[in-house]
Amino acid sequence: MGEAYNALKARLADYTHLQQAGSLLSWDQETYMPAGAVVSRGDQMATLSKFAHELFVAPKTGRLLRQAAAEEGIKDQPDSDEAAIVRVSMRDYKRERKVPVAFVEELERTRAQSHQAWVEARKASDFKRFEPWLVKMFDMARRYADYLGYKEHPYDALLDGFEPDMKTSAVRATFADLREQLVPLVHAISAKADTISDAPLRRHFPREKQVEFATRVSRQFGYDLNTGRVDFAAHPFCTSFSSQDVRITTRVDDGFFNMMLFGTLHETGHALYDQGIDGAFAHTPLENGASLGIHESQSRMWENLVGRSHEFWEHYYPELQQVFPDQLGQVSLEEFYRAVNRVSPSFIRVEADEVTYNLHIMVRFELELELLEGKLKVEELPEAWNARYKAYLGITPPNDAVGVLQDTHWSIGLIGYFPTYSLGNLASVQLYEKIEQDIPTLRDSIRAGDFSPLLGWLRQNIHQYGRKYTPDDLLKRATGRSLSAEPYMNYLRAKYSAIYGL
Ligand code: ZN
Repeated sequence: MGEAYNALKARLADYTHLQQAGSLLSWDQETYMPAGAVVSRGDQMATLSKFAHELFVAPKTGRLLRQAAAEEGIKDQPDSDEAAIVRVSMRDYKRERKVPVAFVEELERTRAQSHQAWVEARKASDFKRFEPWLVKMFDMARRYADYLGYKEHPYDALLDGFEPDMKTSAVRATFADLREQLVPLVHAISAKADTISDAPLRRHFPREKQVEFATRVSRQFGYDLNTGRVDFAAHPFCTSFSSQDVRITTRVDDGFFNMMLFGTLHETGHALYDQGIDGAFAHTPLENGASLGIHESQSRMWENLVGRSHEFWEHYYPELQQVFPDQLGQVSLEEFYRAVNRVSPSFIRVEADEVTYNLHIMVRFELELELLEGKLKVEELPEAWNARYKAYLGITPPNDAVGVLQDTHWSIGLIGYFPTYSLGNLASVQLYEKIEQDIPTLRDSIRAGDFSPLLGWLRQNIHQYGRKYTPDDLLKRATGRSLSAEPYMNYLRAKYSAIYGL
């Protein structure tokens, strides 16, 4: 490679390391940091963000990017990893340099305090405590969108940071299509709601045994704990400081089985992605998922398509019964399988079943748009939230903690992020459909507790590429077409017609 490319790589490495160090501080804030440290932590993260941002948007970076793009081995090899590093970094550079350093610093400092305010407000189930911070966050989101610029809608500018090239209008259209098909399915299932009980999951399951079982499954999926670890946090997440250090967090409810296991399998799906990125992208901004939607396709696949499948439980249920003989000894595999797939409108997004999950996302997406457009005021949000839950899910949250305060995203300025969850759900099934075509014995291998064919396919077709391809290109390369809601709806109808006898 040429001189400019090598100098660019060194610069990108510095930038990436500063960002990864910032992620480590953020991980610590969510796991072990004493609450009293919130202001100093915000200052530390703001400084790191400022240095990283200044380094990246400096004219020198732009010069090196342009020079490297013209070098031999880059311009004549557009599909090479090196050319991708230049191309994707150029895209980031053009986006980032629109944002003033002072704003980046302000955002970082504000989000640390806002997040702490959210934690306390949620604990007290008191939206009013969080309200002034949320006002700030939406003000900053509007300013951010203005800096970035947009053609149709300010939301486009925000969404693009999480889901490159995705447009608000496309999300609206996909969601409208999805809602039209989902609502009748939810109604059909609701008419038979009484036929399935989740009582077997609501017994006392000692914490340590739950953690031990979930961690074992996670490792059998392929999560490498030599380059990963599992901790506890209020909100489960996965974070990566490089493909050599990919951590997940989880939480346990000793009175409800689903939270720990499915939360862990979900985050494991994210972690497998990050651990599988090709070393060629280490120390560059490409050592990351193609988009949040593609990332979520991985977590949802391991959580739902694998973890809630019949074949999965054919393998694991006897083992689980041995771990919890008093709780599950008398519960049949069929009863258990139906219980973990029970569909029931509920308040909490992260615990929602596969069928109603996307309705939770639509509520957030629509409210975000209205807040951003100024059609809705932050002070009116709890009421608007509850009204929409009533309209879409037929239930009204009894308090803010299980209503508008349940998600951490807005508290840290992640506005424009929620739709990626639904896009990920759709992508997970589209990919899985293709995997089953490519590997006809897939279900048998899962039945035997062997996840290596699945992981191998994902490593080959998705994980290794990091951010080399756009989400749309990656999906087209892997499945032959752009994102569609059709495989997802076919999957839901087939699976839940069988479970509920529709
Ligand atoms: Zn996720």
